[in-house]
Amino acid sequence: MRAPVIAGNWKMNTTVSEAIELVREMRNGLDGVAGVEKILCPPFVSLSAIKDLIKETSIKLGAQNLYFEEKGAYTGEISPLMLAELCQYVIVGHSERRQYFNETDEIVNKKVRAAIEVGLKPILCIGERLAENEAGMTEKVVGGQLRSSLAGIDYTPDLTVAYEPVWAIGTGKAATGSQANMTIGFIRSVIGQLYGPEVASELRILYGGSVTADNIVEFAQQDEIDGALVGGASLKADQFLSIAKQTSELR
Ligand code: PEP
Repeated sequence: MRAPVIAGNWKMNTTVSEAIELVREMRNGLDGVAGVEKILCPPFVSLSAIKDLIKETSIKLGAQNLYFEEKGAYTGEISPLMLAELCQYVIVGHSERRQYFNETDEIVNKKVRAAIEVGLKPILCIGERLAENEAGMTEKVVGGQLRSSLAGIDYTPDLTVAYEPVWAIGTGKAATGSQANMTIGFIRSVIGQLYGPEVASELRILYGGSVTADNIVEFAQQDEIDGALVGGASLKADQFLSIAKQTSELR
């Protein structure tokens, strides 16, 4: 059985004091949600404060990005080693990083590798754009992203994959449960080709893209989907808590 994951990607939202307030609002409720791994991914600057706030809870912490070098003259970047002291997870290859910061599969591969090397658990994001979806290229695109991002990397149970169709992120137009389930089933089959059937059956693959408290059940009840990476709705304590609770109830 794969334990479901509900991860909140706060993106570039919340000052440190707002982040503290948001965690205070959801901490006790989230802590009480059983059987679901709950992960908060605030901006870098709030990691330290939130680490302290959740230290005696079941809530885990993640970053939204990292640089692949350990240290050195890379002004403005945050290294895997720095993050390893603060959090357990790190989102890698989010489509906004690919779109606005020119992250290629090659860079994503280096970041996944760098994260694993220091014991951080990567949440590797893949997903097709609208035009690619409309051209029937979804499997070609996500299969290619997956193979390139994981090329030469040994499997580790620390890895989680998130299927996030770009056209569904922040648009309010989520995929349907069955669409997402089908593509995630395909992603699992590629993982099987790369690492074998046992790994394919144990790897957790999340759906992300306009998940809310109103549609989480549609995704969480699908066989292939092991939870959600949530953007906008993770900034509202009651929504995020409800998403985690509903996922727990479906187990
Ligand atoms: C995301 O940022 O990964 C995401 C899925 O965003 P949203 O839920 O807002 O679509």
